[in-house]
Amino acid sequence: MAKKADRHLKCSICKNIPERVEAFWKGGELLGGELPRAEQKLEVVGAPFFNDRMSQGHNCLKQCPKCGTYYDWDFSYEFLVNGTEDEVVLTRLSDKDGEKRAKVVFETIGSADKKFRVEAEAWVKTLSTSQDGKGVYGAANSLQAGQFLGHDLSFAVPALTKAFVRFSGKEDEFLEQCSSLIYFVLREEIKESPEIARQVFDKLRGEKVTKKTKDSRQYKWLYDDCREVLRR
Ligand SMILES: [Zn+2]
Repeated sequence: MAKKADRHLKCSICKNIPERVEAFWKGGELLGGELPRAEQKLEVVGAPFFNDRMSQGHNCLKQCPKCGTYYDWDFSYEFLVNGTEDEVVLTRLSDKDGEKRAKVVFETIGSADKKFRVEAEAWVKTLSTSQDGKGVYGAANSLQAGQFLGHDLSFAVPALTKAFVRFSGKEDEFLEQCSSLIYFVLREEIKESPEIARQVFDKLRGEKVTKKTKDSRQYKWLYDDCREVLRR
C-alpha cells in the first residue's frame, strides 16, 4: 500500500477518525463500537448515484470535504435467529487507493449516464406525442428515477413541458396525477438553472396554452416556481 499522506492528522475532521473503526447494531440497537461524529461530515463520492443507505449490504467511497482524504465505507448485515446484525466498517485509504476507487466511481456514473440517455429517447418521444396518460406517466416516472440518481435531464425538459401543458387542466383524476408528477420532475430541473426556468416559463406563456390549463393548480405551481427562479 502506498504511504498515506499525513495531512489527515492536521485536518479538523479526519483527526477525529481512527484508521479503522467498526460499529455493530442488533435489531437497530448499537452493540459495539461507535462511528465518530466526524464520520457524518464525510461525503459520499459520486452521490447521489452512490449512497450510504443502510438498507442493503453495500459499500461506498467517502471523502473528507476539507482535506480530501478517502475512506472505504462498508455496510454488511447478517440474518440471525434473534434479529439482524448490522455492521459498518470505515477504513482510511491511501491516496493512491482512494484515487483508484474514485476513478471507478466516475467511470461507473459515466456509463450509467450514457445508458440512461439511450433509454430516455423512448420516454422523451412518448412525452412529446402520446395522448395516453399511462404511457406519459410511465415515461415521467422513469425520468424521475434517473433524476433521483443525479442524471442530467435537461435534454428532456422541452418534452416534459409539452406533456405538462397537454395534460394539465383536464378534468380527469389520473391525468391530474400525471401533470403533478411532471410538475415535480420539472421543479427540480428549474431549480438547477435559470436557463431551464426561462425555457419552461416561455412555453407556459405560449399561445398554445389553453385557459383550462392556465387555471389548473399544477400550472400555477410551475408558473410561480419559474418566476421565483428568474427573479433571483
Ligand atoms: Zn480531512
